[in-house]
Amino acid sequence: MSKSTADKTKHAHNADISVEEKLVALAKLQNIDSKIDKIRIIRGELPLEVQDLEDDVLGLQTRIEKLNSEIQDIENDIQDKEAILIEGASLIKKYEDQRMNVRNNREYDSLTKEIEYQNLEIQLAEKRIKEFNYAIQMKKEVVIEAKSKLTEREADLQAKNDKLNEIIAETEKEENLLRSESEKNEVFIEERLLTAYKRIRDNMRNGLAVVPIGRDACGGCFNKIPPQRQLDIRMHKKIIVCEYCGRILTDDEIIAKATGEPIATAE
Ligand SMILES: [Zn+2]
Repeated sequence: MSKSTADKTKHAHNADISVEEKLVALAKLQNIDSKIDKIRIIRGELPLEVQDLEDDVLGLQTRIEKLNSEIQDIENDIQDKEAILIEGASLIKKYEDQRMNVRNNREYDSLTKEIEYQNLEIQLAEKRIKEFNYAIQMKKEVVIEAKSKLTEREADLQAKNDKLNEIIAETEKEENLLRSESEKNEVFIEERLLTAYKRIRDNMRNGLAVVPIGRDACGGCFNKIPPQRQLDIRMHKKIIVCEYCGRILTDDEIIAKATGEPIATAE
């Protein structure tokens, strides 16, 4: 054995501790670890929800920014068209003045054509301005909708964030407490058994490595346990594992000692 002396002193010797004490310690450990699992589950969902909301908020902000910049572009286009209106009007005025002083029909016709052309330009620009204004109106409606969604999401995010911070603040203390309790309890369990416990726990989706027998069956996989084996389990003289799922089997008496709760069964 190449274990450090620290490990040797940390874990008590096999002979010092009875099997029953070990079983109680294992059941306690399971109880503590299940509580830590529960904290993790509560916390495990909230950070994800907060992340989703943060993505939503960012997406909406980007969308609103893009729409506003599109609206700005269209407003610039409208200004260009308005400049055409002003220019056209002043050209028409100029051509009309010139038409008063023409020397021949050819000049008169040419100016009339210019005036007609400018009138067409003005009509076209007015049509475009109408279309642009309509496009702006549509985009503004989308912006209003997005802004209301954004306000909603931001409020959600704030609430979820507060809740998460609250849970972290609350559970951090509880988790640290449970961890130190768990460490204190590990001293009663020899390393080999502790390793086995951790390995079983890792393999089980519900994290249960120590289960009581109930209704003549394993409390983990619910397979029947023969009467003689149940008797052995109740004797607390050996560490017995379920032959189907490999979990460490205990009885209500051990669980009651581990949790400090009264024995539930009337057997
Ligand atoms: Zn089982």
